[in-house]
Amino acid sequence: MERTLSIIKPDAVAKGVIGKILDRFESNGLKIAATRKIQLSRADAEAFYAVHSERPFFGDLVDFMISGPVVVSVLEGENAVMKNRNLMGATNPKEAEAGTIRADFAENIDANAVHGSDSAENAAIEIAFFFSEREIS
Ligand code: ADP
Ligand code: MG
Repeated sequence: MERTLSIIKPDAVAKGVIGKILDRFESNGLKIAATRKIQLSRADAEAFYAVHSERPFFGDLVDFMISGPVVVSVLEGENAVMKNRNLMGATNPKEAEAGTIRADFAENIDANAVHGSDSAENAAIEIAFFFSEREIS
């Protein structure tokens, strides 16, 4: 069993597709082990995306991530990290395969509906950023 962190980003929350996205996870063998809707502060978003702080899009990414509430979830299952990445589709929705979350719900690379951890190592760090162990089951 593996865990990964998912974030339903402000664009998808504003569109009213939280339920549809969570259904993709549950319908594909990923258990929702924890979930919470929150408004990120600027400091939260900067810390969460610190790995991208030198990238040209960092400022826009932080502005976007605090533009409205997000839904953070811990997903659990076999190969959860890779399974979630496959369900999400490519970072740029225009390149995302049909039937993926980003192809179906995202507009562009800035507002691309979901975040997912990219490795089991990063998943552990990202999960600990939002949840304590007793909130996960
Ligand atoms: P992913 O979310 O697929 O793991 P990255 O970790 O590379 O993608 O980037 C984090 C987020 O930063 C992306 O989801 C996207 O919202 C934003 N981003 C990445 N690359 C670009 C880009 N070239 N222009 C604008 N935003 C970008
Ligand atoms: Mg990433």
